[in-house]
Amino acid sequence: MSSQPVSAPDSATAEPLTIMGAGLVGSLLSLFLARRGHQVDVYERRADMRRGGAVEGRSINLALSDRGWRALEAVGIGDEIRQVAIPMYRRVMHDVHGNLSFQPYGKDNQAIYSVSRAGLNRTLLTLAEAEPRIRLHFNQQLTSLDPRHRRLELRDTVTGQEQELAFRRLFGTDGAFSAVRSALQKTERYNYSQSYLDYGYKELNIEPGPDGEWLLEKNALHIWPRGQYMMIALPNLDGSFNCTLFFPYEGKHSFASLQTPAQVQAFFEEIFPDVVPLMPELTDEYFRNPTGSLVTIRCFPWAFDDDVLLLGDASHAIVPFYGQGMNAGFEDCTVLNELMEQLGDDWPAIFSQFQQQRKPNADAMAELAVYNFEEMRDRVGDPRFLLQKKIESK
Ligand code: FAD
Repeated sequence: MSSQPVSAPDSATAEPLTIMGAGLVGSLLSLFLARRGHQVDVYERRADMRRGGAVEGRSINLALSDRGWRALEAVGIGDEIRQVAIPMYRRVMHDVHGNLSFQPYGKDNQAIYSVSRAGLNRTLLTLAEAEPRIRLHFNQQLTSLDPRHRRLELRDTVTGQEQELAFRRLFGTDGAFSAVRSALQKTERYNYSQSYLDYGYKELNIEPGPDGEWLLEKNALHIWPRGQYMMIALPNLDGSFNCTLFFPYEGKHSFASLQTPAQVQAFFEEIFPDVVPLMPELTDEYFRNPTGSLVTIRCFPWAFDDDVLLLGDASHAIVPFYGQGMNAGFEDCTVLNELMEQLGDDWPAIFSQFQQQRKPNADAMAELAVYNFEEMRDRVGDPRFLLQKKIESK
């Protein structure tokens, strides 16, 4: 966390750059590129999330860890984000009788941090907007991309109006179902795979106490490991927790088996008894909130010549059990920035070295993420595992 904030080089010739997708990775990337002296145009399909309206999408809060912090520090916004981040120093496991056990995340108060996805994205957008070199364009959906001729088509999601644009260099940060990647998939010898778990996820909520207090230990990540499935909870600044139930689609205990409010209530009372009194809206939320799917996406190459480059989930979407999807996307930005620092305007070398460096790391992360699911849902509740962790932490 020690790197100096990026400052713009004396580069009057820096090229205008295009970013597709102003999610977590795209908005952070825009800051890195602008601070290296580039004019940056960012296009985003959704409306500006800072102008009200519900935020569609995945988990409400996220675990931010060291590789993510390093990127935020590198653009000089670590302090701003720390104001809205809650340190989680340990895992707290809840067994079926409500008994608790604990595993520290490290020695010397090491922690991972709970942050609001929307809050973090809004902050990044506000910082991007304050940069004179960045222009944000909302309600602009990429509908077509011709990487060979460096042309793209956008549709205004409000008016339906279409426009065609030429670009010099395009960064695809448009997420797991990336339209930029879809276009690359049609180029020659493109490798792509997607693999879904037989598990989905459902978000639920623990409300704050009457005085706005946290009803579970605040500075911890809570886990209810249950062998074939599990629930986790991360704290929010307002005293609430967001819970995520990771659950099979089919089987005895599954989304398919819970069809009525009475079934949901009875299941939670039996399996997660200590949390039921903290979830007054349980059955309403269970049926109101969508069931999300869990996918691993691998592809290669990430670059098309030195014209198009994929970063973040667009190139490496992983399942969330290692809490590293966003963190890895932020690390993409750090590595790209280091390569720009070393290689100046040699974009062919920057794109090529970026994908060579990052691909093995992304693949390793994808495997660890699936492995960690087995550990969290199953082994963290095992007394032998707890003993081993206790010994390791000494
Ligand atoms: P996204 O966040 O998906 O952003 C993509 C952006 O592109 C969006 O704004 C979208 O509107 C826009 N877009 C899409 N298509 C187009 C188009 N055609 N034209 C224009 N714009 C477009 N990661 C962690 O590090 N820690 C965690 O604790 C964690 N928990 C998670 C929990 C769950 C349940 C899930 C599902 C994921 C979790 N992740 C976590 C992963 C994390 O959410 C992703 O890795 C991260 O959001 C990736 O950021 P991104 O900017 O690459 O993509």
